[in-house]
Amino acid sequence: MQQPDKAALRKALRARRKALGGFARHQAIRRIEAHLERLARGLSLTVVAAYCAFDGEPELDGWLRRHRGQIWLPRVLPDNRLAFHHADPPTACSRRRMPRTNRFGIIESGDPRRRGINSLDALLIPLVGFDARGNRLGMGAGFYDRALAQRRGRRPLAIGVAFADQQTEALPVDPWDQPLDYIVTDAGVIDARPT
Ligand code: ADP
Ligand code: MG
Repeated sequence: MQQPDKAALRKALRARRKALGGFARHQAIRRIEAHLERLARGLSLTVVAAYCAFDGEPELDGWLRRHRGQIWLPRVLPDNRLAFHHADPPTACSRRRMPRTNRFGIIESGDPRRRGINSLDALLIPLVGFDARGNRLGMGAGFYDRALAQRRGRRPLAIGVAFADQQTEALPVDPWDQPLDYIVTDAGVIDARPT
């Protein structure tokens, strides 16, 4: 059977993500945040790269407010690499407090303090799609594949965040695709680390 191509899957899964609204969405996000909180505590995650939601991604504002460690937000550099800039957890993704947005309209930190990927405990990565083996479908620019390719050790952990509905049977995988260690959804946490 021919593999479904990434572009077609991306379109269908983005539409599904955007269609989730109202109380169901609110409930799902609360569950995601509760699972994320438990995972972060279990793994002693202190220095965490988070994300500010767009395109229907789960907003993690509640979790950010409760996070007792550091938050760093990705900034897209002109050469498509990511740099991680300091943000205050409670206001990290507040439009009022964080006026700077990138070319996609995503909130970025204007704080000059930055960290390289290898000094982070974990990256929270918003997903368009995923499968149970930890394969990730992103928006199609490969930003996180490029960033994760720079990892030198077991950390940072790559933690995908998605609604359970974003799961597919088996995603097509390209040679440059970097797998996830964990996936947090409203249905729970998937441990996808290689055994
Ligand atoms: P996404 O991961 O966002 O779903 P893809 O996996 O389709 O998107 O990757 C998008 C593009 O990113 C690909 O064209 C690929 O060439 C590029 N890319 C991924 N990783 C790297 C890397 N380590 N170096 C350079 N380009 C990369
Ligand atoms: Mg990829």
